[in-house]
Amino acid sequence: VTKIQQGQLALNINRFDLVELVKDCCEHINPLHDYEFVFLGDEELMIYADYRRIDQVMINLIGNAIKYSPHKKRIEITVLHDDANATVAIRDFGIGINPQKLPHLFDRYYRVDAFGHQFSGLGLGLYISAEIINRHNGKIGVHSEVGSGSNFWFTIPLDDPSIS
Ligand code: ATP
Ligand code: MG
Repeated sequence: VTKIQQGQLALNINRFDLVELVKDCCEHINPLHDYEFVFLGDEELMIYADYRRIDQVMINLIGNAIKYSPHKKRIEITVLHDDANATVAIRDFGIGINPQKLPHLFDRYYRVDAFGHQFSGLGLGLYISAEIINRHNGKIGVHSEVGSGSNFWFTIPLDDPSIS
């Protein structure tokens, strides 16, 4: 099913295993296994979503987890579900985020300490990820603590969007 509406992100809905997507994405991003990915939760979870868009969200969130954890190589990825939603959480043990900055984090071009820190980027990855997840009627958010790390999560409804 392809839904295209003026001014909206186009989605191409497929049925696929979210756990497989997550593991494939980690393998592509970390071919030499410099980082230690730990997979928790479901061993398989079939969902209806746009595979390539959700892959882009994972690339953005895992990319951030790596970029903002220069000295901690462990990243935990949890896939869970309840009756209504799939949830993916990406936990790093990196620099963390000041709670005062959290409300702006998903804004376009927003970067914490844009001119102060040594990490390069445009401030677009989280903005794009939020657009994609909102378009799937999911939610995206983060729990974080400076110095201990961040836990970014998102949800995707489990129902078939073509039946409504
Ligand atoms: P881009 O993704 O466009 O290359 P970016 O990584 O700076 O650049 P976002 O991914 O949108 O942009 O993230 C916005 C800001 O949120 C980052 O600049 C960083 O300050 C903060 N941030 C995002 N993820 C993390 C994380 N896992 N740990 C600590 N800070 C983070
Ligand atoms: Mg980024």
